[in-house]
Amino acid sequence: MNESQQTTPGQKTPEQITRGGLRYEGKAKRVYATADAGQYIVEYKDDATAFNGVKRAQIEGKGAINNAITSALYPQLEAAGIPTHFIRQLSEREQLVCAVQIIPVEVIVRNVAAGSFSKRLGIEEGTPLSRPVIEYCYKSDALGDPLINTDTALSLGWATEAQLLRVRELALKVRHFLTPFFEARGVRLIDFKLEFGTLADETVVLADEISPDTCRFWDTATGEKLDKDRFRRDLGGVEDAYAEMLRRITS
Ligand code: UDP
Repeated sequence: MNESQQTTPGQKTPEQITRGGLRYEGKAKRVYATADAGQYIVEYKDDATAFNGVKRAQIEGKGAINNAITSALYPQLEAAGIPTHFIRQLSEREQLVCAVQIIPVEVIVRNVAAGSFSKRLGIEEGTPLSRPVIEYCYKSDALGDPLINTDTALSLGWATEAQLLRVRELALKVRHFLTPFFEARGVRLIDFKLEFGTLADETVVLADEISPDTCRFWDTATGEKLDKDRFRRDLGGVEDAYAEMLRRITS
């Protein structure tokens, strides 16, 4: 049990929190209801997919590692003033989170050109960006998460103007915390994807995971990739890279 798994007086132990019905199943996680309508259990799977589900595999231990990484980072983001859905880690693969309605807009934050940005614009991977770039995609597996802009999200009613402003503000705040956090651990944070949700009272909070599945991490000294690109690009050593990122984050 690590620090974020410990219960405090008055809190239910993991054994006292029972899983209700499956609310949602994504590529890497399942979300279950609990007896408390305001809380969900998120379960991390070892399944990995890339290229919109065309490439599939199991990465042994990935679910536990991504849960441990997210459970280590979220309390620190909270402490840095970023509201999140995270309550606490329940077990190796499970987290207790606040029930949110996910805003169907994936937010990508870029420090350095890579991936689809490099391909789309013909900018060499590894080119530093003179200021952070925030991109928005429509969260739809069926459509392959297409790039959109804020007008699209507004006109189709996926979010309000105030929510989108808050999302951008929080995304930049997450970057402001994470970039030096990883730099201190010998890792260049190239880019990452965030998701946000709304609580019953409409507050916008950070949701989903922050892990090697959702970030690009390059070793500062060697440039070695320590993220899902090892799987996407058949570079090998996927499990080792994820374990190395957990080690650096928690040590
Ligand atoms: N990303 C993600 N989920 C997605 C798409 C992207 O977590 O559905 C992450 C990806 O791991 C990277 C960043 O968002 O850290 C930017 O990804 P990009 O748009 O370059 O897409 P890719 O090249 O991965 O298709």
